[in-house]
Amino acid sequence: MSPGYSVILIDPEEQTRDVLIERLRMQGYRATGFAGPVAGITAALGSPPSAVIADLWMAGISGVQLTRLLRAEPATERVPVILRGPDSPRNRFWAERAGAAAYVVKGHMGDLVRAIGRSIPPVATEDEGFFTQLQDDESTIRDRIAAYLDAALFESVLAAEVSALSTCGAFDRLFDLLTQFVSQVMSYRWLALSVNRPSHVGLHAHPAAHEQCEREARETFNLPSDIAILHIEDEDASAEPPSARPLVRPIEFGREIIAHIALCQKGSGDRQDARILDVVAREMGGPLRMALLVEETQRAATTDPLTGIMNRRALLAALDLEQSRSERHGYPLSLLMLDVDHFKPINDEHGHAMGDRVLAALGRLFAHQARRTDLVGRWGGEEFVVVLAGAAEPGARIAAERIRSAVEKMSVLDDKGHRVAVTVSIGIACLEVRDNVEVFIDRADRAMYQAKAAGRNRVAVSPSVLRRTGPDLEIPKEIA
Ligand code: GH3
Ligand code: MG
Ligand code: MG
Repeated sequence: MSPGYSVILIDPEEQTRDVLIERLRMQGYRATGFAGPVAGITAALGSPPSAVIADLWMAGISGVQLTRLLRAEPATERVPVILRGPDSPRNRFWAERAGAAAYVVKGHMGDLVRAIGRSIPPVATEDEGFFTQLQDDESTIRDRIAAYLDAALFESVLAAEVSALSTCGAFDRLFDLLTQFVSQVMSYRWLALSVNRPSHVGLHAHPAAHEQCEREARETFNLPSDIAILHIEDEDASAEPPSARPLVRPIEFGREIIAHIALCQKGSGDRQDARILDVVAREMGGPLRMALLVEETQRAATTDPLTGIMNRRALLAALDLEQSRSERHGYPLSLLMLDVDHFKPINDEHGHAMGDRVLAALGRLFAHQARRTDLVGRWGGEEFVVVLAGAAEPGARIAAERIRSAVEKMSVLDDKGHRVAVTVSIGIACLEVRDNVEVFIDRADRAMYQAKAAGRNRVAVSPSVLRRTGPDLEIPKEIA
């Protein structure tokens, strides 16, 4: 060990302190002993040593507090602190979390000497001439410790708030809750979160400034104009004009950057903003990944992968809900069962892949034809269901005829560029008072077979005597 390394040793027991100082001197260290933490800290800040050794538990100021203070002061931030105490995993945990370079069991002098050797950086910090002049009184040190502990507490509260977003289950909700809490701890013009894959972008801005803020956020993230943005607008964001470049931080999960968060400060900003944003970005990876996974799982469980519309399971659940709404509010409900005509020959002549392309095109067409309040799903194979909320028989006939005609005109080309003719037969059932979902679907299915029997590429309606009568309804807003 090269001579000249200085060590500050804080130990209230005079006898053990002297023995240890002697031992350290024999190892070539310039060791100085202090009986209490305040004197030791003051000496360390005034003339940073190569290492500080202190007890974990001391009267007045604990070793954890001492370590945090020395870590946070520029003069001593790289001075290793070695804490000593009883042999217990919990003590070791606290010492490491506080930033101690090592924790050794008190009385194990050999361990201590080895820990000092390992901890001291190759270049002695004492030569850097960086020191902090403190008034030599305990209250100054206590104030500083209190400030650092407050900052640490604030960070851990922030981190806990961000971690709590793990249960959101959806990006939109996560971003909304994030803005609600970040806007309480920072003042900003806008806050934006941009997820790489699948693309999700959220922007929180003041209603009066949202267009300008959107331009800035798009520029910050380099977003193409076709990427949609989830807008949250309220007065928690400021409408001031921009005065500084936005702060941007990556959000990682594992070692992968999965998103970026950006914040455009209000005015010239607050010194703390960058640190708070660091904490938010650091803690955000887990909750964000969780929300995206839940969303993806839900999407996969409810979407038909070939056509991108609802699968049978999701359709049944949505239909169940729609049926109870219709009964409660007394508005009509119609169901179309659509089956592709002579689909087997399409597969046989053009191949299964071509059949799949036809089904995918039909899914897109049905989704496009439907109103926002309608349900569109793949029932299975080449059969589809469209549920028309608020439509009685006349309206359902018109809608079914429109869809039938659109399919007839639809253009799907085979590999040689020839048009593949596609038609559908459609059965209509209108919800009756005593229908349950199974009967409702079954009646539409039977009507569809009637359409087939009557020559295909046509619409047939399930006969009924108990049908809800009355004109088609405009769906009230609260139901839609
Ligand atoms: P119809 O006019 O009487 O309805 O005649 P069809 O040929 O459409 O009726 P059928 O029930 O005999 O044939 C349905 C065909 O749909 C048979 C099946 O192989 C095909 N099919 C079912 N699911 C898929 C799929 O996901 N992709 C493809 N390419 N074909 C499918
Ligand atoms: Mg079929
Ligand atoms: Mg068919």
